Amino acid sequence: MGEVIGSVDIDHLVLAAATAAQGATSRTVLEAVEAEFLGKRSELAGAHRSLGSMDEQARKSAGAVLNAARVQIQQAIEECRVGVEAAERSALLEADRLDLTEVVSSSIASPVRRGHQHVISQTQAELEDVFIGMGFTVADGPEVETDWFNFEALNIPPAHPARGMWDTFYLELGEPETVVLRTHTSPVQIHLMEDAVANDTLPIHAVMPGRCFRRDTPDARHLHTFHQIEGLVIDRGMTFVDLAGVIQTFTTAYFGADISSRLRPAFFPFTEPSAEYEITCTICHGEGCRTCSQTGWIELGGCGMVDPAVLHAVGIDPEEYSGFAFGFGIDRCAQMRHQIADMRALVENDLRFVEQF
Ligand SMILES: [Zn+2]
Repeated sequence: MGEVIGSVDIDHLVLAAATAAQGATSRTVLEAVEAEFLGKRSELAGAHRSLGSMDEQARKSAGAVLNAARVQIQQAIEECRVGVEAAERSALLEADRLDLTEVVSSSIASPVRRGHQHVISQTQAELEDVFIGMGFTVADGPEVETDWFNFEALNIPPAHPARGMWDTFYLELGEPETVVLRTHTSPVQIHLMEDAVANDTLPIHAVMPGRCFRRDTPDARHLHTFHQIEGLVIDRGMTFVDLAGVIQTFTTAYFGADISSRLRPAFFPFTEPSAEYEITCTICHGEGCRTCSQTGWIELGGCGMVDPAVLHAVGIDPEEYSGFAFGFGIDRCAQMRHQIADMRALVENDLRFVEQF
């Protein structure tokens, strides 16, 4: 017989609790065991209350015995809990197992509702097809970039005013490197050029589709999370005429012969000269509407000849190679192609909208 406190045999109590816990077959039973042996009305709690009538010395040693017993009981219950939970889980899995032998008559089975690709994914695939047809390959890159790939290698040093155009979400500032959600697919260009230099695989003819992020307030033509497709050609003897030819070929191939395009002078830090690429507003056909801000034109993206400083930064000799780049919004293409007045509909997940495409 072990120590008795307040008429409770402590060793006996611990043993009884452990036996009861081991016999528990479910979490519910185990919780009942826990309440019985550790709860407010348990014998252990009663023994604790009896400490009040003891002198200080006896209270100290009896208190230590009771605390040790509580810990032992808790441990015994926790050990059993692991086993009980595992058993319950496997029983659940067993019950959920598919019975593939069952034959379901089609008259009682509800028809399977088949989904389809979102209009943005469809648009991306169609755009890729157009460019693959023109001899481009498709490349991919990370959505989270270091400051170097997103800005600096693209001729946008810290504090350059152009950073304001691409204000983004910073994940980590400063040491060892600033990490951002990429504001454009242009960092993939840097990856491609660095890889091509390292592996001696120039020239490059590639398009890079993907998701990008900017700190824009959503409106009819802007989303903070959007999709771009970007093209890069690095080869010998490339000129602005080659760039304009690619843009024109693409516009006709994707939007149809009745939609015209135009290039307007613009500024981008990573191209020189640079242009904005606009097409006839497909919603009003040039008449002017809310979507095109009454101009009749919709800006699809930007383009230009790759700045020699960018080529230098990745180790390509601008005397030997030249190139051009262009990028535009996949969401904007979908909007123009399907005449979606408000771009926010693309991300609102309203099935009445999504199911139209
Ligand atoms: Zn319009």
